[in-house]
Amino acid sequence: MKALAVFTSSREVRLIDQPDPVIGGPTEVKLRILEAGICGTDREIASFQYGMPPVNSPHLVIGHEALGEVVDVGSDVTGLAPSDLAVLMVRRPCPHDRCVPCRTGRPDFCNTGDFTERGIKGAHGFMTEFVVDDQRYLVKVPKELREVAVLLEPLTVAEKAGEQIRILVQRLPGHLRVDPSNLRAVVLGAGPIGLLGAMKLVGANFETYVYYRGKADSPNVSIVSAIGARFISSVEHPPEDLAKMLGEISLVYEATGVVKISFDVLSVLGVNGVYIFTGVPGVKAPIEMDAERIMRNLVLKNQVLCGTVNAGRESFEEGVRDLGSFMQRFPAAVRALITARMTLDGARDAVLAKGGIKSVITVA
Ligand SMILES: [Zn+2]
Ligand SMILES: [Zn+2]
Repeated sequence: MKALAVFTSSREVRLIDQPDPVIGGPTEVKLRILEAGICGTDREIASFQYGMPPVNSPHLVIGHEALGEVVDVGSDVTGLAPSDLAVLMVRRPCPHDRCVPCRTGRPDFCNTGDFTERGIKGAHGFMTEFVVDDQRYLVKVPKELREVAVLLEPLTVAEKAGEQIRILVQRLPGHLRVDPSNLRAVVLGAGPIGLLGAMKLVGANFETYVYYRGKADSPNVSIVSAIGARFISSVEHPPEDLAKMLGEISLVYEATGVVKISFDVLSVLGVNGVYIFTGVPGVKAPIEMDAERIMRNLVLKNQVLCGTVNAGRESFEEGVRDLGSFMQRFPAAVRALITARMTLDGARDAVLAKGGIKSVITVA
């Protein structure tokens, strides 16, 4: 079968031919990959800035956002049968007994760093024709969601952020009586992570704004409007305008990976505010920011700054429910997130290209 592989030592990205995987244990499932999404992480791996092949492999098969159709199941598999659709989780636990998160099913909080991630770190990914994995890493998806289920993995970034926010707001007195529609949430960036985050916030009834450098007539901004969020141009309005325009900002969901603007927006976060970072910037020269004001506000305004990576099973399951409700509420906007589809033969060019919102490889 074909697979898109990145050879780190010879710096090549190309389609390879490799044997089909086979079911090796009673709880394993074989999937035919239907679609695989491309994101910034794949582009970084394909430009040799990130990623790690499995031990003893010269290459890494990339792809970590995938929808598959079950073609075969081991004898002890429950809850999945041939022709079911499923999305694959990405991170796999580290081997250490002392790592409580990994031993309790939450490798997204692994504290040893020895986890693997399919398609990213130490394990082959999903930009290929067939994949075998244990049932515990598969999340069943209703057939009605087939055309958009490839968006589930990127949606789980927002789902895990939602989980963290629910925990963090519990510190506030009377939090159960707060109506989110009275709270302002700002999303930084209108790429797939930002737009899916905005959908999640709109779905949770926040007054949602998307702060983005693109133009008002861009396809990204059309999606912002279509879901009932509001666009604010970061080119026309510097961060200090945000608080003046919106009033107290209760929540910021950062999805740009751009350091300067992210910290500038942190400096206008409101009282008791929560700020979630999801972007991963490259390590560059130090930048200037208003550190006194930020630290002062963090203390005097009881603010919380929280980074989040990867997601647990519950976030995937909540994502399935949310994707279903987004498709009820604004189906055209969800479909519009996928701006290009190409076959596995075109995968290399698609991974090396830029542009559009989300490109998807259609495998089968
Ligand atoms: Zn991704
Ligand atoms: Zn661990």
